[in-house]
Amino acid sequence: MHSIPEKPNGPIKTDVLIIGAGPVGLFAVFELGLLDIKAHLVDILDKVGGQCAELYPEKPIYDIPALPVISGEGLVEALQTQIKPFGPVFHLGEMVQTLERIGDPLFRAVTDRGKVFETKLVVVAAGGGSFQPKRPPIAGIEPYEAKSVFYAVRRMEDFRGKRIVIVGGGDSALDWTLNLQPIARHLTLVHRRDEFRAAPDSVNKMHQLVAERAMDLALGQISALEGEDGQLRAAQLKRSDGSLQRIECDALLPFFGLTMKLGPVANWGFDLHDGDLIPVDTEKFETSVPGIFAIGDINWYPGKLKLILSGFHEAALMAQKAHRYVFPDKRLVFQYTTSSTSLQKKLGVA
Ligand SMILES: Cc1cc2nc3c(=O)[nH]c(=O)nc-3n(C[C@H](O)[C@H](O)[C@H](O)COP(=O)(O)OP(=O)(O)OC[C@H]3O[C@@H](n4cnc5c(N)ncnc54)[C@H](O)[C@@H]3O)c2cc1C
Repeated sequence: MHSIPEKPNGPIKTDVLIIGAGPVGLFAVFELGLLDIKAHLVDILDKVGGQCAELYPEKPIYDIPALPVISGEGLVEALQTQIKPFGPVFHLGEMVQTLERIGDPLFRAVTDRGKVFETKLVVVAAGGGSFQPKRPPIAGIEPYEAKSVFYAVRRMEDFRGKRIVIVGGGDSALDWTLNLQPIARHLTLVHRRDEFRAAPDSVNKMHQLVAERAMDLALGQISALEGEDGQLRAAQLKRSDGSLQRIECDALLPFFGLTMKLGPVANWGFDLHDGDLIPVDTEKFETSVPGIFAIGDINWYPGKLKLILSGFHEAALMAQKAHRYVFPDKRLVFQYTTSSTSLQKKLGVA
């Protein structure tokens, strides 16, 4: 289901581009799919599920209709199963940067990795905005970013044979330590103290590698960087007793967690409510631009509740209007999934 088609020549064409693969973006695939509308989804995270997957995968949710309790992760898994029949195409680890209208309606969207979409309709399901990595408090880090300081690993091969310093004590830091250690020339994990938030199994494996002298663990904080033209030569470690250690390295990977920022949505020409919400009508959840819809946490209308169930309702009504754009000559007959054989065929159950 997570295929990412490489189309170097020309834009990727689709009926609908869904920006954001949180729970609401995922459910939009279902409602659109029932009406034969195909969707591509883009998300800046490297996984689907938005806040549920990133912020509270193990927390129980108690207010999804008819599910007395389900975890954030469980809900995302169930949504993925539910939308499978409609073959959504995911483009993960990419942020939609620009969005422009090129027809009536027809839109061009471009991601930060240069992928271009030409889409009849756009569904903005961007939630609280894009998740962005937290920058560590190291003076003068900016010139190194994207050259030898990275907040995500896009291609492991880029790190083969390098001297790597990973900073952090959570799951991302430990997972990448374990994944990159076999291909790195040398790897040092830096953390403030010898206590980790990451899964105990990963922490044990890391300690084992340190015991085998296959990598180093250094306690303290990176306080300065050394290098030129964006290429690191060394990072300076400051220990809690104030002593300093110079660690030679080619790449620094800080994993300090993610923060939510509105991001590029702010530049797409919407007259935002309270500075960060896209106003929509409550009949079709369309924005002031015909053909662009906004559903889930990102939208605003009188009485809006930032709940998953509200986003699901919004997705259903959005799809009704989307059908009129995509199939202007087809009459839409309202049907139930319980009794419609044609809907059941689409779901693969009849
Ligand atoms: C701790 C916590 C507990 C919660 N508990 C509940 C609860 O019990 N019940 C409930 O109903 N709700 C709960 N919520 C709220 C619920 O999680 C949100 O209402 C829901 O996640 C909104 O879904 P969404 O799909 O609109 O947005 P999100 O889940 O925020 O997903 C939006 C996605 O869009 C992506 N994105 C944004 N901008 C771009 C861009 N430019 N390009 C590409 N991708 C982009 C983001 O990376 C993100 O993955 C809780 C929230 C938190 C933080």
